[in-house]
Amino acid sequence: TSQAVQPHIAILPSPGMGHLIPLAELAKNLVSRHSFSVTFIIPSDANTSHLQAQKSFLQALPDSISCIFLPPISFTDLPNDTKIESRISLSVNRSIPHLRRTLSMLHESGTHVSALVVDILGVFALDVAREFSIPPYIFFFSNAMALSLVLHLPELDEVAACEYKDLLEPVRLPGCIPLRGKDLPDHFQDRANEAYKFALEKCKKYQLAEGIIVNSFLDLEPGTFKALKDEGWCKVPVYAIGPMIQTGSASGSNSSSDCLKWLDNQPDGSVLYVSFGSGGTLSHDQLIELADGLEMSGQRFLWVVKSPDEKASNAAFFSAQNVADPLDFLPRGFSERTKKRGLMVSSWAPQNGVLAHRATGGFLTHCGWNSCLDGITNGVPLISWPLFAEQRMNAALLTEGLKVSLRVEANESGIVDRKQIAGLVQKLIGGEEGKDLGNKMRVLKDAAAEAWTQIGSSEKALGELVHKWIQV
Ligand code: UDP
Repeated sequence: TSQAVQPHIAILPSPGMGHLIPLAELAKNLVSRHSFSVTFIIPSDANTSHLQAQKSFLQALPDSISCIFLPPISFTDLPNDTKIESRISLSVNRSIPHLRRTLSMLHESGTHVSALVVDILGVFALDVAREFSIPPYIFFFSNAMALSLVLHLPELDEVAACEYKDLLEPVRLPGCIPLRGKDLPDHFQDRANEAYKFALEKCKKYQLAEGIIVNSFLDLEPGTFKALKDEGWCKVPVYAIGPMIQTGSASGSNSSSDCLKWLDNQPDGSVLYVSFGSGGTLSHDQLIELADGLEMSGQRFLWVVKSPDEKASNAAFFSAQNVADPLDFLPRGFSERTKKRGLMVSSWAPQNGVLAHRATGGFLTHCGWNSCLDGITNGVPLISWPLFAEQRMNAALLTEGLKVSLRVEANESGIVDRKQIAGLVQKLIGGEEGKDLGNKMRVLKDAAAEAWTQIGSSEKALGELVHKWIQV
């Protein structure tokens, strides 16, 4: 009898911790529960601090997960105003020749790769997988509504005569809440820009995949998933395998345990956790306004502070830590005045540990989809403060669709002012509205847990993928 071969898949993540974390969870799941081995093939730009964060994260993964770092590519020829979305996509695109060499090397060494999983910024790698007869899959790290938008983009592009933000009517995607044009992703907002053209080109590639894996779950977006399946415009099978969220800690720093120890001393449901993800930064004026708002609210808070950047952006995207001490940018005397009820940590906190803590009662988030899933999994109601990418859509889904969030609104100068912040925090922590949002969020928490029981929808979808990958 022939010995069973250990199934092996390769994963090509695009740069960014928010991209790597859910893919690492997928890999861990396949390795520990389905005896797979996994090779991460990592494109890299010349930014070493960013690479370092990825390296230490990957090194902590189990032994059956190995990594191949592709030679760094260069961005020196790009104009300064090249959007971050284009840079990330380009770092994958320019690595394609290296990917081809790596797949050919794996092939020659007799390693049978039964699938190549790329994320949404790596869709140009789909063709390369096909060259080697490896079935390619897309890992869509946002929700089904965002997938629906992407699949509809070519059609929207044809019918819309103006910029999306100027549309008079909301965009109506099948099975989704109506979306205001201005809530569409950043890089869709300037249709003459390269980033938009690039996105449009990428959307057309989706149908080349063997399957699309979505980090969401059926009961979270039932109408959208149903429409994706029934209405015939997604030709590719969709696998909803979420929530796939970070387990264990991404960074073992001291501040991690400090956060949890501090929470141990706070009353149940009393603390607002404030974080803008791995890359989100605020302007200095906005940072001060947020500090003042938190102080005015009189509520307890645990705030992951990042050094400010000119404008609200994802400036810290290419490194999890930025250089200056972020706490130096807070208003004078702020730490002293709030020390009885506030804790600030620099750059990074053990997010899921914090959200799972009984003392945490709310989460002010930039609405990166992983953070949204972290909030849902832990049943913590939200204040949505979207900054970039598809975060405004996520905020709309959470606020208007699922009704588990309040949402900030910037004034004419683009600032969310202290009064509004204080008001929202008071509503969420201890207010009636907060209680209501919390109850709805706990229903979602149960549904998320349900998706991963033996008969749950995500467990079943992952099982189908595993079955396919073992067969190949
Ligand atoms: N995260 C964390 N601690 C932090 C900030 C972020 O553990 O202080 C993790 C979080 O759990 C999530 C990821 O980093 O898995 C952030 O991803 P998200 O999609 O929310 O936002 P992005 O960082 O991509 O903007």
